[in-house]
Amino acid sequence: MLNLNERAKAQFNQELSELSHAEIYKILLDLVQEKTAAMPQNQGKRKLYYISAEFLIGKLLSNNLLNLGLYDEVAAELAENGTSLAEVEEAEAEPSLGNGGLGRLAACFLDSIATLGLNGDGVGLNYHFGLFRQYFENNKQSYQPDEWLDHPTWLKKSDISYKVPFGQFTLQSTLYEIDVPGYNQPNVNKLRLFDLDTVNPEIIEEGSINFDKTQIEENLTLFLYPDDSDRNGNLLRIYQQYFMVSNGAQLAIQEAIERGSNIHDLAEYVVVQINDTHPTFIIPEFVRLLTTEHGIDFEEAVEITRNVVAFTNHTILSEALEKWPLADIHEVVPEIAEIIVQLDEIIKDQFPDNEAVHIIDEWGTVHMASIAIHFGFSINGVAALHTEILKNNELNHFYEIYPEKFSNKTNGITFRRWLMAANPSLTNFIDEHIGTKWREDADLTDLLAFENDDKALDELRRIKRENKNALADHLQRTRGINIDRHSIVDVQIKRIHEYKRQQMLALYIIYKYHEIKAGNIPGTPITIIFGGKAAPAYTIAKDIIHLILSLSELIENDLDVAPHLKVVFVDNYNVSEAEYLIPAANISEQISLASKEASGTGNMKFMLNGALTIMTWDGANVEIAEQVGEENVYPFGKSSEEIVNLYATDGYDPQDYYKQERIQPIVDFIISDELMAYGIPERLNRLYKDMTSKDYFMALIDLEEFIDVKEKVYLDYEDRRDWTRRSLINIANAGYFSADRTIAEYNKDIWHLDQ
Ligand SMILES: *Cc1c(COP(=O)(O)O)cnc(C)c1O
Repeated sequence: MLNLNERAKAQFNQELSELSHAEIYKILLDLVQEKTAAMPQNQGKRKLYYISAEFLIGKLLSNNLLNLGLYDEVAAELAENGTSLAEVEEAEAEPSLGNGGLGRLAACFLDSIATLGLNGDGVGLNYHFGLFRQYFENNKQSYQPDEWLDHPTWLKKSDISYKVPFGQFTLQSTLYEIDVPGYNQPNVNKLRLFDLDTVNPEIIEEGSINFDKTQIEENLTLFLYPDDSDRNGNLLRIYQQYFMVSNGAQLAIQEAIERGSNIHDLAEYVVVQINDTHPTFIIPEFVRLLTTEHGIDFEEAVEITRNVVAFTNHTILSEALEKWPLADIHEVVPEIAEIIVQLDEIIKDQFPDNEAVHIIDEWGTVHMASIAIHFGFSINGVAALHTEILKNNELNHFYEIYPEKFSNKTNGITFRRWLMAANPSLTNFIDEHIGTKWREDADLTDLLAFENDDKALDELRRIKRENKNALADHLQRTRGINIDRHSIVDVQIKRIHEYKRQQMLALYIIYKYHEIKAGNIPGTPITIIFGGKAAPAYTIAKDIIHLILSLSELIENDLDVAPHLKVVFVDNYNVSEAEYLIPAANISEQISLASKEASGTGNMKFMLNGALTIMTWDGANVEIAEQVGEENVYPFGKSSEEIVNLYATDGYDPQDYYKQERIQPIVDFIISDELMAYGIPERLNRLYKDMTSKDYFMALIDLEEFIDVKEKVYLDYEDRRDWTRRSLINIANAGYFSADRTIAEYNKDIWHLDQ
């Protein structure tokens, strides 16, 4: 017995049943904090530091209770007192420490690292207002600071603090920590988030996310990815990155010494995984610390660092591979700029004619990925296809030099959050049919025995219906949005980017709208749900949001079409929203332009929850099709080789596709009077012009095939029994995408931590 009632009386002098959700949340937060504080830290000579600009951890209450084995007990005691965990968790603010897939991956990895009993902490920054809170006004994206720290949080202030020496001044950090318990594990790890006591929210301009970018002491950890469209913004990003890595490196060295390192043997004590290029400055920072603070000579410092740092690449979009002007780095922290120049000299001596692998190019720009590949011991891609593209195209010059450094680690997701916590009914269904061993090994294939079991399939359909009801209630309660509970739920949730091709789904909606107007009524009403933020400086992405919101309003107001088709854009998409949307989905939209999505992890969450995937041959979609069989997904579109080749030969002209009979009227509708009645001419015209003249991410190239495959999917859904059978097959084959498998591979091939 946890006796929450005793705690209610002690803490609030009231019965549990009389407390607000916020008060019960506080009681459970304290309970969990007490438990984890009493648990020993993971031990081991060698320790991993997973350093990342983002950790999209989501709410922690359910997940922590689950991992600590308290979930059922708490749920039962709350039920006795007339409430539920879901209701109580409404009082928890989602930490705003991440923005998309890369940050969510880091969060899933922390859960799996702890669950495998590995000695490894996360290291990052404690952003006070996150990226931004998204809301819609006049069919446009608008911004507010996300004030998550105003609520009781899981952060614990430590007494650890370091001096970070910038060129103009030195700042003193404060370290906050969040305990990370693994599933059924005796020990805990931590997420360690550095911050500054001098940060000042008052400098944010009222009603915006703008602030004075030059006041580093006051602005450093206000926001994740602050606007970098001007030089001060660039400098601020470098200030943030250096602050993160300097603290991380000092922490790693100090703890290694405490565990017995004599510094020369640092690599036996520390491994640092850098999540994309944002933490790359940790390489020159290690060299700086080792030479200036620990008396190591330069050459040995470089060698030690090279044996400590491993790099994960997350993207092949060249605009996302970070580059900074050397002059900017020099302005922020001259010592680091000087070390980078020395590292570049080593490479230029070694490979004088191989300019593609130089660190500083002829324009004085520093290529962060080049530092990470030369001066780390490992580089990995995040899905099989992505790693092949890195080796054969994007990073081929490096692969030729260091073939042994390259490996693939296909991404994964934690089943604790994305199945057990997000979908308790499905979790029970699995337990009842195949026992609970899957909770340890993620093997769900025994479910295949129920492929033709009518009772099991009926049960699965009932669960999907329940989850749709929970989503419908949630959208009604939080936004006043009503969706048809009997409709097919078709979902595309992810950051808004042209390569992910939300605009292609919008074009399909235009097609479907006209089909329904013409009397071709779908067998089942359709609800298409979008969610995702656009970067504030990314004009076309914001125009795509505007197109979708305008279409949504147009359809809502059309009495012929509205009963059969609804388009919803869920504002401020985050982990908490995903936990409602994914268990309710029938269809998972994974339609990126082939070769552009490194892996995707949303695709895995949907599969695990029984949605069927409409997919291009991109990222981990390829491996999903491999696991589940092509007949149980809906593939379409050009292959990644074709697309890579089109870019190489400049061979794509959107006009070739625009002129097709079925396409032109769809695209032209963007600038029709009908849609203009709901939209802003400037935005719709700009999007139309871009799509018909440039269309850099080729939305039109796959549109014909996309329309055909969507029509087939909706038709197939009419055979509910067979649909549910294939849904079961998807769930049964999702085991490969457990992050526990991914982390076991990282450990075996890269980290070599004791277990
Ligand atoms: C999983 C997840 C993502 C990544 O989604 P992709 O479809 O892989 O881009 C982004 N945001 C949130 C909140 C997520 O949970």
